[in-house]
Amino acid sequence: MLHPARAQCPYCGVGCGLELKPAAVIADAAAPGGSDPWTVRGDRQHPSSLGQVCVKGATVGETLHHNRLTTPLFRERIDQPLRPISWDEALSRVVAQMQQVLADRGPAGLAMYGSGQFLIEDYYLAQKLFKGALGSNNFDANSRLCMSSAVSGYARSLGSDGPPCCYDDFDSCDTVVLIGTNTADCHPVLFQRLLKRKRRQKEALQLIVIDPRHTATADVADLHLAIQPGTDLVLLHGIGHLLLQRGQFDAALIAASTEGYEELAALLEGWTPERVCALCGIEEQQLQALATLWGRSRALLSLWSMGVNQSVEGTATVSGIINLHLLTGQIGRPGAGPFSLTGQPNAMGGREAGGLAPLLPGYRFVADAAHRAELEHHWGLAAGAIAAEPGFDVWRQIEAMERGELGLWWVAATNPLVSLPSLDRVRAAVARCPLVVLSEAYAGSETEAVAHLVLPAAQWSEKAGVMTNSERRVTLCAAFRPAPGQARPDWAVFAEIGRRLGHPQAFRYGSSAEVYAEFAAITAGRICDHSGLSHRLLAEHGPQQWPFPAGTAPGGGQPRLHTEGRFPTGSGRARLIAEQPLGLGEPPDAAYPLVLTVGRYLGHWHTMTRTAHVERVRKQHPEPLLEVHPGDADRHGLEDGAWARISSRRGSLTAKVLVTDRIRPGTVFLPMHWGAAQANACEANRLMHALACPISHQPELKAAAVKLESAQP
Ligand code: SF4
Repeated sequence: MLHPARAQCPYCGVGCGLELKPAAVIADAAAPGGSDPWTVRGDRQHPSSLGQVCVKGATVGETLHHNRLTTPLFRERIDQPLRPISWDEALSRVVAQMQQVLADRGPAGLAMYGSGQFLIEDYYLAQKLFKGALGSNNFDANSRLCMSSAVSGYARSLGSDGPPCCYDDFDSCDTVVLIGTNTADCHPVLFQRLLKRKRRQKEALQLIVIDPRHTATADVADLHLAIQPGTDLVLLHGIGHLLLQRGQFDAALIAASTEGYEELAALLEGWTPERVCALCGIEEQQLQALATLWGRSRALLSLWSMGVNQSVEGTATVSGIINLHLLTGQIGRPGAGPFSLTGQPNAMGGREAGGLAPLLPGYRFVADAAHRAELEHHWGLAAGAIAAEPGFDVWRQIEAMERGELGLWWVAATNPLVSLPSLDRVRAAVARCPLVVLSEAYAGSETEAVAHLVLPAAQWSEKAGVMTNSERRVTLCAAFRPAPGQARPDWAVFAEIGRRLGHPQAFRYGSSAEVYAEFAAITAGRICDHSGLSHRLLAEHGPQQWPFPAGTAPGGGQPRLHTEGRFPTGSGRARLIAEQPLGLGEPPDAAYPLVLTVGRYLGHWHTMTRTAHVERVRKQHPEPLLEVHPGDADRHGLEDGAWARISSRRGSLTAKVLVTDRIRPGTVFLPMHWGAAQANACEANRLMHALACPISHQPELKAAAVKLESAQP
């Protein structure tokens, strides 16, 4: 008997609620390639989305059967075909290789690259396995590519990770600054919420968009600043300069709740409007208008995503945004705050579970001896079992493979052979690793092409577990369909490996609810406190926001953080950070005179393992298009619909040209979705460099120097 089920959408970090109902005729529900009997609609009871849903969420039911992996597969060498093997043989091979690597190279020879598609239970057991049982902190996740600069920026400026805002702030703000985010395409339901309010209360809500492209988000902006790529921090400092010059700052909050004002004020002094506008490529009147809107706003919300985070100065830019909020008192109250929009559905939960190389569960840090001791105690490990050094982030994992230092690289629920920068270098590095394991739901991904061992994964809808969305709201995702064939949940695979490695008690779990209960208990007293939550409470009372300490009544989570003007830094004061802008990691020059920026289309999700199978989305976005400004197209002899060769220092590819004035001169745009396995392959990230923010280690996937030539298809 199948029952209606509720879950958080498995695509973006908005984390909309979905209601899933069995269709009238239930036939062969788990058959790969069969028609899916489940229908999807927005869950009106979910407080984050109130029944709204976008094309991706609405069509997710069409993606669940296509192209599924149903049995473990193995090959000794990459030039051989994959052949089916049993789970017992697959797990024995993983354990044997782990033991061999530990004996030969030590824990640093093992690494895992996980995913914001994980449930918290998957994330948590991956940390317990790698950072605990194996003593290797080399766990990183694809959230590294998405929002690690937001994590670093929040921690550095406010003392801890954790977006301080909530979606209700969309209804109480009077100004929204969208910087480096195409919210219309990448967080559609939130954008629609803003748009509806804008239509209802045109003058009561001012929308400002800062983006080199004239995106669908910019279409509705009261003010669009198409700045030069790489000048976000310059612009923020320019706003700060004008606010201080005009006396539009919150002296009481600065005095009572911040430190570093003198240094920041001295730095902002030098960022005059003339200097800022020359670098940003905007009119002074635009900068003045933006500063005026910021200065007079009663409640201002800033939203950002990868346009800010994917930069060599990603952390500095996040701190630059937070500086302005602290200077003007736009934080800790309804409608006001710096709000990072997370890319993936559970990247937030991953942060809470310690799912990045320098982190431990419960917003703890590997580098903090007290935090390591707490986890060693919780996990029943000997003192010193958790290594003191942060592990390799994903690019350091690639570099370690280049040096031949990794003996096992385990990729789970992600497709790095499309999403990482400098893909030719990635392919060459991975080829040096003796055992590449891929835990994946779908067959035929670009990463499968480099894997020796493929483990079929039960995905969202087939395993119960918890996700946290961008407003810190925790949703229980029900298991409402059987997994196909022999596919297993990642958390169950990690637990089995832990038991086989000699930890039978520590990894004995009867259900994912038990895994979550253990995780929730160790967050007690931390900012991301889940200790009052359980699968049962979430099933009975619906999604809840953290912090949610034990004893909290349902609905009693905290919608906003830092409401008292105290921050979890040593001094209790937030830090104003004074940093000079650096610009792009690879600025354009005579040889490569244009800047390539990459991004997303509304209907497609990341590397298309799901959305390539949705007819409606395929029709909506049939092919990748290279957006070129008419002036640049003229100079290169390119017409709309013609083909161009686009080259960077790392390689070249051809793409069909879309001539449009929606991109600023000197900049071109490609979508990042079409990997080598797609019929219209267009590996945009092959062209991108791997330079990264030195603090967050998030690569600058948003900008690389390129040149254009006309080409044949
Ligand atoms: Fe899913 Fe994001 Fe669309 Fe909501 S906005 S339905 S979370 S993809």
